[in-house]
Amino acid sequence: LVSRKRQSKDTVVMVGDFPVGGERNVMVAGPCSVESEEQVRQVAQTMRKLGIRLIRGGAYKPRTSPYDFQGLGEEGLKILRRVADEFGLKVVSEIVHPADIEMATQYVDVIQIGARNMQNFELLKAAGSVRKPVLLKRGLAATLEEFLFAAEYIVSRGNTQVILCERGIRTYEKWTRNTLDISAVPILKQESHLPVLVDISHSTGRRDILLPIAKAALAAGADGIMVEAHPEPSVALSDAQQQINLAQLEELLKQLRQTYDLV
Ligand code: PEP
Ligand code: MN
Repeated sequence: LVSRKRQSKDTVVMVGDFPVGGERNVMVAGPCSVESEEQVRQVAQTMRKLGIRLIRGGAYKPRTSPYDFQGLGEEGLKILRRVADEFGLKVVSEIVHPADIEMATQYVDVIQIGARNMQNFELLKAAGSVRKPVLLKRGLAATLEEFLFAAEYIVSRGNTQVILCERGIRTYEKWTRNTLDISAVPILKQESHLPVLVDISHSTGRRDILLPIAKAALAAGADGIMVEAHPEPSVALSDAQQQINLAQLEELLKQLRQTYDLV
């Protein structure tokens, strides 16, 4: 169902009235984790000013260590919803448990399925059973075929609104957190009709190369990018080293808008 052979026309995923895929490129921006209402509000205010519509923020955080910040849970989703409504934004947030999918549809506009859960088949089935857009991230060591089969799990349950997100894969390279598989972008666009985003933050793990990586993603045909931004990255409760501050977000967008129509 997700194959180009089944549908030649690009799927445009409607997040409410906001299209992902199609003419314009989109930016998903926001903190790694929801930490407080004030934190989310500061990011949302900047996004509103810059004309970016999709705010991200994790409420359920799949952390490598069980001793690290695990997220605010449902309270985090409530914060995102309140602030997004205040500023006219759409919420993208990760859900990690199949039993939470139904609950999450009250709060989020896009259900994110994280890299670590790309082959959590019960989660994929649960996401396929609701009528909310899903942003599916590529697994840390997933082939493109496995990635598209994961999307197929969702779509085959009747939820056709799936956005793919390349977020880097595990390699031996240590100077980046993951290795961005740039060739995944044109291949996914060729093999599937679903929109494709590139997460420039988790794929690199470093803020000093975001601009060239974002340009590469868009030049390769990505429908948009995801970037982590925080009012004060140095005190962030997760991914402090890769998040950019709000001035840097503004500058990144300004640079990209010289070439790309990014909203
Ligand atoms: C995220 O986007 O918040 C995240 C945890 O990313 P990933 O699942 O790609 O590691
Ligand atoms: Mn993160």
